[in-house]
Formats: sequence, C-alpha cells, structure tokens
Amino acid sequence: MTRKNCVYCGKEITQRSSEHIIQNALGGVYESEDICCPECNNAVSRYVDAPFTKIFNPITGGIKNFSKTNNPKSLQPCTGTVLYQGQTYHANIKAGKVVACPDLSRQLRCDATKLPLEIVSYDFNLENAAFQTGMGKIAFNYALDCGIDLSVLKHGMHVQKSGNDITGISFNYEMFPFCALNPLDLRLELHTPFSPYHCLILFEQNSKLWCYIDLFNTFQYYVLLSDKMSALNKVHGVAAQTVQKIDRTVPDLDAQRPKDLLIFAQQYGVRSFTDATDLAQKIKVAIARKSQKTDLNDIIAPRVKSVSYDYFLDPNTDKRDLPLFGQSMRLYFNEFDRLNTNTFRTMTTCSNVNNVFSYPEAVLSVSQNNEVYFRRYALAKFKTLNYFLTQQNR
Ligand SMILES: [Zn+2]
Repeated sequence: MTRKNCVYCGKEITQRSSEHIIQNALGGVYESEDICCPECNNAVSRYVDAPFTKIFNPITGGIKNFSKTNNPKSLQPCTGTVLYQGQTYHANIKAGKVVACPDLSRQLRCDATKLPLEIVSYDFNLENAAFQTGMGKIAFNYALDCGIDLSVLKHGMHVQKSGNDITGISFNYEMFPFCALNPLDLRLELHTPFSPYHCLILFEQNSKLWCYIDLFNTFQYYVLLSDKMSALNKVHGVAAQTVQKIDRTVPDLDAQRPKDLLIFAQQYGVRSFTDATDLAQKIKVAIARKSQKTDLNDIIAPRVKSVSYDYFLDPNTDKRDLPLFGQSMRLYFNEFDRLNTNTFRTMTTCSNVNNVFSYPEAVLSVSQNNEVYFRRYALAKFKTLNYFLTQQNR
C-alpha cells in the first residue's frame, strides 16, 4: 500500500522520501518510503535520530568495517574508562584511541594519552529520554512497515508544533530490557563468539503488540506498541542484518576443472557464464550487490549448533538443565532445523518443563522478582561488547 498522508504532519505526501527503520548512522539498511514527508523526515533526524545515535558512538566508531563509514574523520568521540598501572581513569576516546585523559594528565603533569593506556570499557547512556525516543521510533517505523495501522500506534507518538512548524518529535512506549530466561538463550547470548548484528521482531500476543529490538546484539528490548490489538490481526515481522561491511574482494578463481567453476557460480548465484574471466566479472557484480540484509535463521542457527555441541559435551553442564534445553530447542527450531521465528524471542520455557510462556511477560516478571539475575545478564552482555570493542583496535 502507499500511504497518502505523512504520519507526523498529516499533510499529503507529494514527494517520496526514504526513512531508515533502524537509523542510518547505526548502519541500518532497511528503509521505507511510506512513512513521512521530506520535511518531517528532516525533523525526525534532528529531534530523534541525532541524539539517539550519539549514544552508540563507542560502537559505531569501534567496529571494524562498520557499514556506515570507514572514514576516521567522521567518527564521533565518546567516553569510557582506561586502565593505567592498576588504576582506572575516565577518558575521551575516538576511533578506539584515547584522545584525552584529563585526571591522569593532571596527576602526572604530562600528556597521559602518550602513555600505554588500556581501554577497559565504554560509557553508554541508556537512561535518557533520547534512548527511549530512539528505540520507540524504531518500533513505530517497523510496525508501520509491517502494515500496522497508524491509529494503533499513534498514542505513543508526540509531535510538538509551533504554528505550522514542527519543533519536536518524541516517542513514548512502555519498554524494558530483554533477559535470557532459558538455558539455550543463555548459552546463545553469552557463550558464542560475539559478532554485532541488528534484529527486529514484531509480534502480536494476547491482544498486545510487541516489538523486540536487538541492536548490535547487545541492546535488547521489548517495546509494547499497543495493548488493544484484536486477535484477528495476526501480525508477524522479522528483519535481520549484519552491520559489518561484507568483504568485497573477489575470490581468486584458480579453478582447474569446470566443476570448480560451477561451484563458484552456485555460491555467488551466477546463472550463466562463458569462461573463467566472464565468471569472475559476474561474481564481482554479485558481491557488490549483496546486501547486509539477512535471514535471522542464518545468524542464529549456526550459533545454536555450536552451542548445542558444547552443551552436550561439556562435563560441567548442569544435567538438570538438559530437559529444559531440549524443550527450548524444540520450541525454536522446526523439524528441518530452521529457526521458528514465530516462537523465537516471543515464547520461552521457564524453570519447569512442559510450560511455555510469553517471553516479554516472563521477562517482566523476572525483572520484578529477581532483579539480581536481570542485572547480571545485562552486565554480562555489556562485558562481551566492551571486550569485543577493546580487542578491535589492538
Ligand atoms: Zn510531514
């Protein structure tokens, strides 16, 4: 369908403008031309996206081959903690390098950035309104893109106007962080090699409309978009993408036999070619066109496979968890070992076998009854991210 009127100002859309569902500055590749007019698109980037994406500067400046940019001049500075001779200090960091460490410089009366400082963590400000509004916008955009009517979502969107001019846009939906509640998710999230990706899952459950947002495989939240959904509107959407640039180098085609060439052709989806040179040229085009958009199954399934081997072979595995682990596997994967996106992050097993629960509601309940577990999970995820970022620039 094509929307007639802009969701923010209500005016007729005369000129199509492309809006990123996940912010462009975060490497988001999903776009929609069906949300707003160009003027409101600008207002959204000014009032919502700019303050939101700033929070992620430590990551966007720290990921190698980040899809948005590789130009160090355009990387924004951020803050974090560095270690020097057993003491920690607050520091300003840019592109993985310490650019200022005022406390230590003052203490030693020298330029501390010349010292061997080890970055041990980055600061993320998640408590501010910009974070709430930015996450709300992603959920709002994605729901619209999945065909949800504006009237269902409108209550969480606020447009401030002065006369005819928009002077602010904000989003305010109930939201809370995700926490892994079954042994499979726990292993998947904390015991597999970290690689950053984004994922969105929109689902309707018990008349509630949820959006699960996972940014950089670290910032994981449930956003409640509506609690007045009719059970007739079965909706479901999944979007996943990598955030690192795909290696664009063309492989060396040292194929000796025609059979090898056929394998290369199949691997890169080239349907016909005349000779090896022609094939190399066509593969080059195919690689350049390859998008970072991907199937969530392709991200999760290989990780789960490695987790499962470890789980069953590890003598330290608490065997009491086995039935629950097995049940989670059956819940998440179909008979062909493909990820079942209707249940992944929407339903979970929880402590006793033979029961499945709404994931967001189970998370809410754990966050209220077992705050320690909840915090420990969040901390472990951040540790993994920090380790990844600090190792990137070694
Ligand atoms: Zn507008």
